[in-house]
Amino acid sequence: MKSNHKRFFIGSILIFILYLIGMAMVPAISTVTVTAKPSADSNLPYVNHTKTWYNFCPLCGSYDTLTINPKGTFEVELTCSDCGADYCGVTGKDKHGYGSRGNIISTDNNYPRNNLFMELMM
Ligand SMILES: [Zn+2]
Repeated sequence: MKSNHKRFFIGSILIFILYLIGMAMVPAISTVTVTAKPSADSNLPYVNHTKTWYNFCPLCGSYDTLTINPKGTFEVELTCSDCGADYCGVTGKDKHGYGSRGNIISTDNNYPRNNLFMELMM
């Protein structure tokens, strides 16, 4: 009986340590704030919205590569300087001609850090 308790205790400690490692592995992800009009399919009004996104490109997995409107589109979009993907500054959808291949992650979602960690690892 006693050794079972001990095993449970050690197991709990291990899970806790793994959890801490997971949290520590989430890098301090920078964010990018953009004021833009919707330029991908959405029901949002065609007016300026200000949104903050994690500066992470889900299509190529690069950090800090989202740049604000280097192509000078009227609506203002985010473009990944690594893979060239264009994202709507309001919906965060990839603006691929054949449909969105991915979505950048808004900080408004109040993602718990470990969920963001899972999302970025996938
Ligand atoms: Zn990219």
